[in-house]
Amino acid sequence: MPSILQCIDCGKQYPIDRVIYDCESCGGLLDVRHDFHESAAELTQEFFDNRLGALEVPYNSGVWRFKELIYPGIDDERIVSRAEGNTNLYHLPRLASYIGVDTLYLKHEGENPTGSFKDRGMTTGVTQARILGMDRVACASTGNTSASMASYAARASIQGIVFLQNQQIALGKLAQGIAYGATCLQINADFDRNMALVREVAERLRIYILNSVNPFRLEGQKSIMFEALQQLRWQVPDWIVVPGGNLGNSSAFGKGLMEMLDLGLIDRMPRLAIIQAEGANPLYRHFASGFKDFQAVEARTIATAIKIGNPVNLQKAIRTLEWTSGVVEQVSDQQIMDAKAIVDGVGIGCEPASACSVAGAKKLVEKGVISPGDTVVGILTGHVLKDPEATMGYHANNLASIDPAFQNATLQAEDDLRQIVELLKDRTVTGLPHI
Ligand SMILES: *Cc1c(COP(=O)(O)O)cnc(C)c1O
Ligand SMILES: [Zn+2]
Repeated sequence: MPSILQCIDCGKQYPIDRVIYDCESCGGLLDVRHDFHESAAELTQEFFDNRLGALEVPYNSGVWRFKELIYPGIDDERIVSRAEGNTNLYHLPRLASYIGVDTLYLKHEGENPTGSFKDRGMTTGVTQARILGMDRVACASTGNTSASMASYAARASIQGIVFLQNQQIALGKLAQGIAYGATCLQINADFDRNMALVREVAERLRIYILNSVNPFRLEGQKSIMFEALQQLRWQVPDWIVVPGGNLGNSSAFGKGLMEMLDLGLIDRMPRLAIIQAEGANPLYRHFASGFKDFQAVEARTIATAIKIGNPVNLQKAIRTLEWTSGVVEQVSDQQIMDAKAIVDGVGIGCEPASACSVAGAKKLVEKGVISPGDTVVGILTGHVLKDPEATMGYHANNLASIDPAFQNATLQAEDDLRQIVELLKDRTVTGLPHI
């Protein structure tokens, strides 16, 4: 049997080629479901390991290397790929001791073609748009979704339309949407309202939605787990730590891990920790209240990629927390920016939202939830160049209510050799301390 769409709440099924984002009977979210049973014996660690180093499209992609688990049975010619994925899994002993564990890896999804993990979801989402024959795709975005969609839509000669907030959008992200030729619509509304607007407009004008409410996005994003486990030689870490905004990634991770467990690719579940910003913490509150009546919040945080108050994938994220014995933690903007300075300062770098993984892991160690002996894999979701204003503001100490703990202030000098030598004589004068 080929793939189908299935409601996560009532189980109602829909054909894979329906343009539909939630269940007609109960309003629940939809999963893409593949039938692995016939091919299960073939889908071994060796099978996927043998594809490492593939040069040909699409198997040179860190998503499509796992094609049988992502979207089996489709024609390779239809796939819209930029060889996304294949991101580094950095082993970081010094950072590990900073957060208080023996073993820390950071998987850098900012190393994707447009600088965020969204590319892993767009390769599948835009491929599905092409299979469905859609000529326009749209998303509401805090920035990275629009950057990624604009790129992949352009590659497929499909028109991309992005609904952006007219304030607090990171410069690098906005520039990408414009550069890749999408129709950019700045709207006087926050992300959550833009999400509602895009759904209305898409329905009226028959435009395909590529937010993470689209279940094909999550199929691609599952590959972050497949690839991380493959890079760990299929040795399961104790913890995966990921920032949570719209909760697409968290949801995709749960589904991907469950599928790996079912297929015997891994022998146990890691635990998932979802980290939110204090000012955009609806899942954290919901988790802390034992999942009693969910309340959306009005989101406020410097980490704009997770500035979301009413996450569309809430129910799938709750399912993931159950499957993985997961936890949810919150961190302040101060903790986010200090953790970012540390990640940047070891020469790797990330955008503010990504630093939640490190700040959150540190907090969970302090609370005794993560044990010092645990192996932790943190996900860095976006590239350091995405939000230069946040980085510059931190190091110039002009961000409101942030007091930089790791400031790398820029020095000024005249064209004067003596003055320059004088400045640089003191080795501690500037630059970040090496942790
Ligand atoms: C989209 C995004 C997030 C949030 O991911 P969700 O899947 O919406 O929870 C976090 N960080 C970055 C850099 C992002 O682009
Ligand atoms: Zn349903």
